[in-house]
Amino acid sequence: NTHIIIGAGILGASTAYHLARTGDNVIIIDRQDPGQATEAAAGIVCPWISQRRNKAWYSLAKNGAKYYKELIPLLENDVDIDTGYKKVGAISIHTDEEKLEKLKDRAIERRKAAPEIEEVEKLSNNETKQLFPPLAAEFQSVKVSGAARVNGKRLRTALLQAAEKHGAILIYGEAIIAVSDGKIVGAKVNGELYKADKVIVTAGVWANELFEPLGVKFKVTAQKAQIAHLHLPETETGEWPVVQPPNNQYILTFEKGKVVVGATHEDEHDFDTRVTAGGIHEILDKALMVAPGLHHSTLTEVKVGFRPFTPGFLPVIGSIPGHSNLLAANGLGASGLTAGPFLGQQLAKLSRKELLDIDLSLYDIEQAVDI
Ligand code: FAD
Repeated sequence: NTHIIIGAGILGASTAYHLARTGDNVIIIDRQDPGQATEAAAGIVCPWISQRRNKAWYSLAKNGAKYYKELIPLLENDVDIDTGYKKVGAISIHTDEEKLEKLKDRAIERRKAAPEIEEVEKLSNNETKQLFPPLAAEFQSVKVSGAARVNGKRLRTALLQAAEKHGAILIYGEAIIAVSDGKIVGAKVNGELYKADKVIVTAGVWANELFEPLGVKFKVTAQKAQIAHLHLPETETGEWPVVQPPNNQYILTFEKGKVVVGATHEDEHDFDTRVTAGGIHEILDKALMVAPGLHHSTLTEVKVGFRPFTPGFLPVIGSIPGHSNLLAANGLGASGLTAGPFLGQQLAKLSRKELLDIDLSLYDIEQAVDI
């Protein structure tokens, strides 16, 4: 059984890893596009306090967050790469006490079906600032201790190396789906044809162009995101929680003073990967308003990535209509680091015709395909 995977972001890397572990033949091809979402991602794994009410989305994100507990030890067994994964908790901060009470109630309600949320507690101004010293003094918060952060880029590398350890072949280059007599037979890359029983497309925002020659109109759209990396000298930030302010931004930290703040939501961009004055202005303005203690941090890097969205902002997974051995998943949007490893595991199962843990009809790929 040979599977070819096109696209090695978090989704393709996870699919490759899970397939390779079964002993099947796996070839994974990646074009290393600038703007790969996984490479730019912030790294927050905390889907439970989102205001979003879509049940299918929530179920996927919730399963995704839970799956980390299984995945990280599996990976650590296979490769020696620190993915930065740590359950540091998350604090939702606000000045409006009533809003915090509601948020706390929602988290406690959701915990009934998601014990991995762990503790939910309301924190005073002082307690909040103690946990995240750069914050302005005016915020109280609700802390959810099950939330985690992870370095998306390193997690992807770890998954790929672990897949290779289990026999997967990783090829860098541009893949094209190979068709013979109307049937999908594999993929072409760097002038060579690789044959396969199944071709799996996990190409993020670049998926449409892959399907075009087949006459399949795939409908993934790209939202540009700029995200800033800061450094706080001589500060141990490794244990600080993820901060979710009342605006649409976030702040999280990693070891040794590394702080990540973001991100923009730009729908007009023409796949332009430039860092813009307006983009940095927006991110830093919002971050410094919430956390003035970051004023003197060093601006070390600004990354740009494209979030892949499918119609209804809901991820899709399945086989492309008319081509039973051509599979795809896409549309992980703003929560793909959370849901991606789990969805990749499901995609691997689908490719092997195993029983899935999700209801495929909720993420029907036909939603993203015009026939
Ligand atoms: P990608 O990571 O974009 O990977 C697609 C890959 O396919 C690319 O490497 C590309 O080169 C390759 N490819 C495309 N076409 C071809 C071809 N023809 N041949 C070969 N290769 C090809 N999610 C969270 O859960 N938490 C967060 O904190 C978070 N923060 C984010 C912050 C930013 C700034 C961004 C942009 C996203 C964030 N996300 C977050 C969302 C998450 O990063 C994405 O949903 C996820 O990474 C999407 O993964 P993917 O594998 O589908 O796509």
